[in-house]
Amino acid sequence: MGILSPTVAMQKVTDITPELLRRMNIDAVLLDVDNTLAPPTEKKPYEGVVEWIEEMRKEGFAIVICSNNFNSRIKPFSDSVGLDCVAMSLKPFPFGFNRAKKKLKEKPKNVVVIGDQIYTDILGANLAGMKSILLVPQSEEHGLSIKIRRSMEKNVRKKLKILKRGENYVDK
Ligand SMILES: [Mg+2]
Repeated sequence: MGILSPTVAMQKVTDITPELLRRMNIDAVLLDVDNTLAPPTEKKPYEGVVEWIEEMRKEGFAIVICSNNFNSRIKPFSDSVGLDCVAMSLKPFPFGFNRAKKKLKEKPKNVVVIGDQIYTDILGANLAGMKSILLVPQSEEHGLSIKIRRSMEKNVRKKLKILKRGENYVDK
């Protein structure tokens, strides 16, 4: 699968532990928002997300939000959970990741991108030399473009064998 393959795949963001990130040699985290931390367009994060962010920061991980969505959506959300953000990041292109990396002052190999989309979050992480964790999208989705992207993801997800069975896949 190569360039479309995440380092790790899990069900949801709150399944990710400080121990896992340490095993992956991670110091900093770039977090997607929609379908990763909160339902698309909703202000309220998924259950346990605020506590998870708090725990990760206490454990010493630097966290920046990196989303392709507009600033008007991402900035208020990031403020509400107390995180710095890069909106309109144009994932999978490197522009947004580079802006986030400057904020973090980290080497790419010590950064993990966490998100729910293979063709933005995971492809972007691989192109930037960063590690990645692919999640299962947590909310129902509407609209043609996301349905096309999800159907393109199907084969990769099948190979990862995570779909709905709660198994976690570790590639490297
Ligand atoms: Mg997303």
